Amino acid sequence: MHSGYRIGFGYDVHQLSQSRKLILGGIHIPSEKGAIAHSDGDVLIHAICDALLGAACLGDIGIHFPDNSSQFKDIDSKLLLQRVIELIVAEGFSIVNIDSTISLQRPKLKDFIPEMQRALAPILNINSNSISIKATTTEKLGFIGREEGISAHAIVLIEKKD
Ligand SMILES: [Zn+2]
Repeated sequence: MHSGYRIGFGYDVHQLSQSRKLILGGIHIPSEKGAIAHSDGDVLIHAICDALLGAACLGDIGIHFPDNSSQFKDIDSKLLLQRVIELIVAEGFSIVNIDSTISLQRPKLKDFIPEMQRALAPILNINSNSISIKATTTEKLGFIGREEGISAHAIVLIEKKD
């Protein structure tokens, strides 16, 4: 009997601007536009953080890292993820696997996914092959398609060992 499994879901959106760098999955991706945010705007990491917090029923990223705090201004989101991992580990959980999808019209992300997996694996303390990252456009529809924004969905399974 495995009563210690918990599932969590996370979703995040940021507006895009030509004045910002695109940081995704912990790496810099060459792009004409990047995410406007209080932090570095890493929409994938933010969705993963919310999924992890959701699985452990620990609130959301906005509760733990308020966007009016100067402490988190332009912060590397990998540090936020590290802090979230500390919170769920303190509750006795470890991660089983993560699945995620980034929605972005341009640039194509496929070639950057292995590097994102390698960047996230040591923080999440799981193998790269347990971190699924997918990318899609929205066929030029909506705010993603108009290149006004970027979004990410993430789902995570965590386990508490007795
Ligand atoms: Zn965010």
